[in-house]
Order: sequence, then structure tokens, then C-alpha cells
Amino acid sequence: MRIARFTTGDEPSYGVLSGELDAFGQPEEGAVLVALAGDPMYVGLKLLEQEHQLADVRLLAPVLPRSKVVGIGRNYAAHAAELGNDVPAEPLMFLKPNTSVAGPGDPIFYPPQTQNLHYEGELAVVIGRICRDVPAEQATDVIYGYTIGNDVTARDLQKSDVQFTRAKGFDSFCPLGPWIETDLDPQHFIDGVQVQTHLNGEVVQDGSTADMIFDIPALIAHVSSVMTLLPGDVILTGTPEGVGPMEVGDEVEISIAGLGSLTNKVARR
Ligand code: MG
Repeated sequence: MRIARFTTGDEPSYGVLSGELDAFGQPEEGAVLVALAGDPMYVGLKLLEQEHQLADVRLLAPVLPRSKVVGIGRNYAAHAAELGNDVPAEPLMFLKPNTSVAGPGDPIFYPPQTQNLHYEGELAVVIGRICRDVPAEQATDVIYGYTIGNDVTARDLQKSDVQFTRAKGFDSFCPLGPWIETDLDPQHFIDGVQVQTHLNGEVVQDGSTADMIFDIPALIAHVSSVMTLLPGDVILTGTPEGVGPMEVGDEVEISIAGLGSLTNKVARR
């Protein structure tokens, strides 16, 4: 099932996206959202007798992380190498504040403090229940679904600060969307799913989730051994090689096979 969060101008609501998707997870013409009562993560799936054409709504970030977005650094060997880093022996964790989350189509604001703003296309895992010390074999039980994330990073500040908090924590530095796919399991991504980033229409990242150093169950086990995860928390699973700069006015589109695509434009803050 594909769960979206949207607005028609009023209060945000949730809906189930129906209709066929093409091979890249793009909805076909006439795709419809069936509205839901409340947030399905908390109240279950309560379908309303109310439909909207996808084309008539504005999609919002499909989840508002309750407490945190956990980022994973250097989880693809080729990306670690392109920035001159070794592959870590354990998953390298950092936090992005939930205030960095933005929705599909929202601007990514270029802060005045940086001269080197990068996109990072990533698979995002949405946690569905409160959990701690989750064994890798049971990771599937705590996953609500999957969406696409852009781990926007001020590369110069990441280097100068050493800590990642400022470089990855500005408002709008975590676009998520377009919706959450709840029917897949981690093995699907271990087998390999294409992650592509287009900058102004040109392919700049083209990776496979099969190349993650630590797979999704390993990441959930590792993160939850340190901190309790809450429903709606998000884990960004790392970016493939090909990261690079964005300028004001650029359009960045991240596509993951079966999950659709997430598009944002860079704007002056
Ligand atoms: Mg990243």
C-alpha cells in the first residue's frame, strides 16, 4: 500500500494512493487518493468515502518524524571513497532534527553560511512502532514502510565543524516523499533496487541498494541498540556515489524503483 499525506488547501490528511504505477513507481494518469481518517500509523487504516485526483492535491512529507531522523554515513563504499573516507567498521550514525523535514515540491533553502550545498539521494526507512534493542532478524516487525529522502548537506560546514549537526540540520535539509510504500521488505532492497538522482534532468547518481555495506536489518539493530526508536522516526540509509553541488534554481529529483520520485528546487533562503 502507498500512504500519502496531502492537502487540498485545508488541514493535511492522509490517503491511500490507488492505481497502477509504471516500472519506476510513477503513478499513471488518473491516479486517485482515497482519504483516510486520521494518521494510519496510529489509528489503523480507516478509509473514508472521499477521493481526490492525485493531480488535484499537494503532497506533503508523508511522515513527520516523532523525534528524529537518523542518518547513516558512508554506507556505500564508492561514496565513502569519493569523499576520501574509509568504509566504517560499524554504521556511522548522525542525527538530523525533525525540523529539517520538507515535502515533495518544497524548496530546499540555500543557507548563507555555506558555499557548497550537496544533494544525497537515499532510501528512507520509516519506523512503525516504539522499539529498542531490535535483533536484525526481527527488524521487519518495526518497519512501517519505505520512502525517498534527500540528505541535503553543507559539505564545507561538514568538514569545518567535524560534527555533522549544522551541516545536515538546517530547515529544509531533509525532503521526504512522495509517499510511504508499506508492502516491501528489507530483502527486496538487499537484492538491489535502483537509486537515481537527476540534477536539472541529468543523471548524477545511479546506485543500487544491493551495495549498502550495512543492510536495513543491521542498521535497525545498530541504531536501536543505542536509542529508542519511536513510530514515525526515519532512518536514512546512506547515499551512493555521485554526490555534488546544487545551486539556487536547480531542480533535484531522486527516484527509487517502485517508490516513485521526490523532486525539490533549491531556493535562496
Ligand atoms: Mg547521507
